[in-house]
Amino acid sequence: MRYEYIIIGGGIAGITAAETIREHDPKGEIAIFSREPHLLYSRVEIPSFLKGLVRRDQLFLRTLGDFDKKRINLFSERSVESINIRHKKVVLDNRESVFYGKLLIAAGGELEQWKVPGAYLNGVVRMQTLDDADAIAKHLGEAKKAVVVGDSFTALEFLEIFSLKKIPVTLVCLAPSVFPAILDAAGMELFTHNFKKHKIETRFGESIREVKGTECVTGVRTSRPAELEADTVAVDLGSTKNLVFFTGQDIEIGKNGVKTNEYLKTSGEDVWAAGDITEYYDVVFEHHRSVSNWTSAFLQGETAGLNMVGKKTPFKNVSFYSITNLGLHITALGECETGPDIETVSRSDTLQGMYERFFLDRSGILKGVFISNMFQDKPILATWIERKVSLAGIRGRLSDIGLDLKDVVIG
Ligand SMILES: Cc1cc2nc3c(=O)[nH]c(=O)nc-3n(C[C@H](O)[C@H](O)[C@H](O)COP(=O)(O)OP(=O)(O)OC[C@H]3O[C@@H](n4cnc5c(N)ncnc54)[C@H](O)[C@@H]3O)c2cc1C
Repeated sequence: MRYEYIIIGGGIAGITAAETIREHDPKGEIAIFSREPHLLYSRVEIPSFLKGLVRRDQLFLRTLGDFDKKRINLFSERSVESINIRHKKVVLDNRESVFYGKLLIAAGGELEQWKVPGAYLNGVVRMQTLDDADAIAKHLGEAKKAVVVGDSFTALEFLEIFSLKKIPVTLVCLAPSVFPAILDAAGMELFTHNFKKHKIETRFGESIREVKGTECVTGVRTSRPAELEADTVAVDLGSTKNLVFFTGQDIEIGKNGVKTNEYLKTSGEDVWAAGDITEYYDVVFEHHRSVSNWTSAFLQGETAGLNMVGKKTPFKNVSFYSITNLGLHITALGECETGPDIETVSRSDTLQGMYERFFLDRSGILKGVFISNMFQDKPILATWIERKVSLAGIRGRLSDIGLDLKDVVIG
């Protein structure tokens, strides 16, 4: 079998690419191979589903009819096991070889394995796919006491899920705070204050050494050492990329994914990549980077699709990740990374949950901002990052929580 376009992965990046291709090439045969059994659903809304804020059926973003109408061949529960660039083919999990004219790799990420003893006991839960969500939803009905492990967005989502279900929960986190690489002392104080307000117990500087139980979780042993009773352990460890089918391929793989240029083209002939799996050349920051967020995956799918039909289009976007959690509206915008060439300034009002930490290079050019409850600033700050605006002239005023960014005139 041969298709003009083959797409690996039926997530938001892969589906958007297929639909974009169809808009511009009405004839070319398109096939999507997708490992999951489900039609496209919103991963972003999984926490809302588990909080009881949206119904399960509301997670789905496409119907089979949508694919029929667009003449896109979707093969669900079909994994690509390997790619052969020289012969322009993919090999599927049923050993079938399928040939392509152009290939898109949009296989997303894979959860990191948790390697503590007892990690596979019943009651240890992760949150990535709809199947994970279904398993958590089933388990929540019986859960009485939970431990959350992690320091990032998914850990916060777990905390809110348990909190809303009135299940007592403890956060165990080796770092001194959530978002340890992003927050300064004022930011850490804001989250600590908010956890107390929501009666969430925290154990920072501690890690889980063992999950206890025979078949089901009965508790955890921590590094302090301490024993905590629990029937649920919810784990947020971050993710790696789905790169298994790349062994021995002549496609360049970076430290964090499939390397592409700004057109999302890989080093392999007629092969592009999009979404969480990429380490793309970011024209805003002028270096390769990898991001994992829904908007970037959608926009990369669109851009890759355009490039695959010959409409040369660079990918340009100031990436961000936003959630609303325990009363805080949190956004990580651009590159929120400290380093020898980065200076930071922050401003906060802990009682209002308001906080911003600005990440600037030595010449005052804004690289990233971590924002809490000041979402109105996001579009202004995104524009400043994209335009590489220097904030050197107002650097001294950035720590003033009363400064309204709308009033700032950048010279
Ligand atoms: C619980 C949760 C909450 C999130 N919340 C937010 C949020 O609030 N805001 C935000 O911006 N982002 C959020 N994200 C991140 C966002 O969902 C991802 O960045 C986005 O889904 C990435 O899309 P993708 O298409 O690149 O990859 P994926 O969504 O991972 O899709 C890739 C697909 O490829 C399939 N696949 C993998 N290997 C193969 C193979 N060999 N053959 C065939 N198919 C394969 C996978 O099974 C998967 O279905 C969240 C993610 C999760 C899990």
